[in-house]
Amino acid sequence: MEQLMEDMQALSARHWLPLSIAFVFLVIWVVLCFYIWLSAFSALVSHANKPCDEPLKYYLLIAFVYLCIPQQVVANVATPSMTDEKRAVLMQALFLPSFLILVLGLSMVWYSKTCSETNPELFYPARRMIYLQVFTMVAAPLLAVISLIVLLSATPWRTFLLNVSQFGGGPGCAGAVRNLPQVPVGAPELVSEGSEGEASIKACPICLEELSDPGKDIVRTPCGHHFHRSCLATWCTSRLTCPVCRDRIAEPDQEVPDQAGAPLVAPGAEP
Ligand SMILES: [Zn+2]
Ligand SMILES: [Zn+2]
Repeated sequence: MEQLMEDMQALSARHWLPLSIAFVFLVIWVVLCFYIWLSAFSALVSHANKPCDEPLKYYLLIAFVYLCIPQQVVANVATPSMTDEKRAVLMQALFLPSFLILVLGLSMVWYSKTCSETNPELFYPARRMIYLQVFTMVAAPLLAVISLIVLLSATPWRTFLLNVSQFGGGPGCAGAVRNLPQVPVGAPELVSEGSEGEASIKACPICLEELSDPGKDIVRTPCGHHFHRSCLATWCTSRLTCPVCRDRIAEPDQEVPDQAGAPLVAPGAEP
């Protein structure tokens, strides 16, 4: 867990600029949403009785009742006793009608001919709200996927995810990694030849940094792969195999506390 916190700090230190830009956008987005929903709601309250050629006021009414209440109820009241699958099915079942309601609203603002003149106070706030919902439904998941890909390709995230993926893992051999033979920076075995004969320094397969930092120990596994010692030790906290070729690196460390906290003696070790 400490390792995880350190990774979080390293991540925010290294990516403070994109993170703060994302944060500013998030704040602007929340304020914008709040403003648009509030203005549509007040339009519904104050201007529903003026003439409009499409039943936009009923759309707004349904949208507010349906989109605000049921999902909140589901999220807070109905779900604690449900399994994850049932909850997922329920959320999908709730999503479908909200999609249909949105299509209905979109067709109303598209086919309306006179409402923008007879009742602009209702028409424009309603149209803004409908466009916002369309944007949220289409663009927000897309943006989330894109930013996830960008973040995952950044180096610290790989280490971060490796650490996360280790919770609840099996026996490890981090102790044995401390005794693996060290390879000096600049050693010929750390140079690899590219397809066109050009030489380059190998990278640590875990953090993807070049194996050229004199401040970090480099080790060679029995299978002949090279890593930063600290990267491999983290990987081996709950694993025994090489992340590149899956060959076994070492026998499990002798004492591995199991979930009850009692020490397990590794197979083959002296009791
Ligand atoms: Zn590394
Ligand atoms: Zn290997």
